[in-house]
Amino acid sequence: MNILIVEDEFEIAQLIRQTLEKESFNCHLALDGLKALDICGQVNPDLIILDIMLPGLDGLEVCTRIRQKSPPKDPYILMLTARGEEIDRIIGLSTGADDYLVKPFSPRELVARVRALLRRSLRHDSTQSQSYHTQNFTLDLDQHIAMRHLKKEEIETLDLTTLEFNLLATLISYPGRVWTRNQLIDKLWGHDFYGDDRVVDTHIRRLRKKIEPDAANPIFVKTVMGLGYKFEDEAV
Ligand code: CA
Repeated sequence: MNILIVEDEFEIAQLIRQTLEKESFNCHLALDGLKALDICGQVNPDLIILDIMLPGLDGLEVCTRIRQKSPPKDPYILMLTARGEEIDRIIGLSTGADDYLVKPFSPRELVARVRALLRRSLRHDSTQSQSYHTQNFTLDLDQHIAMRHLKKEEIETLDLTTLEFNLLATLISYPGRVWTRNQLIDKLWGHDFYGDDRVVDTHIRRLRKKIEPDAANPIFVKTVMGLGYKFEDEAV
């Protein structure tokens, strides 16, 4: 797996590189946006870790340009952002970024996010049956079965409605990603949905009752204030 790291702060870039090379990823480094486009064309990375604040072309511009070209391989793009307000820009502008990570982040968090993205890419290619596995859940998309792993290898099959299942599948497909209510509506009800986006909250509440140990203090389906929801669980 080829990863291109685009970051002008050399120390951070090196840290990311060392972290990923320890995990046996093949890494390339670009210290500015133009160089990033150049290297991207040469090595066709599977994934690009792209800092937003770069000299010259910023990360959002680089992202847009990569998406405009049609390279042989369409890389996954993980944006790095330093400030909270940039998250709104990434989500709002639909630049084509697949995920983002807020600085400072731990090496462990970075690796988990990279693996989650690359798993997605494997899923795109395979015709095998689809399922999601995290530490606490298994979702079988073909059979529409959701299971929660309990202590001592015990497994509980969750009794979810189709909508709840699809909601969980959407969230779990992308651990850590923040979904706005509108994005969830588009995904689950379709673009022609006409109604109150608070309908999402209702279904989230029902889902939590069924999957959370304590629905009042959710540990898996988390609220992100002012934005929406995200799913959190350890990768396996
Ligand atoms: Ca930077």
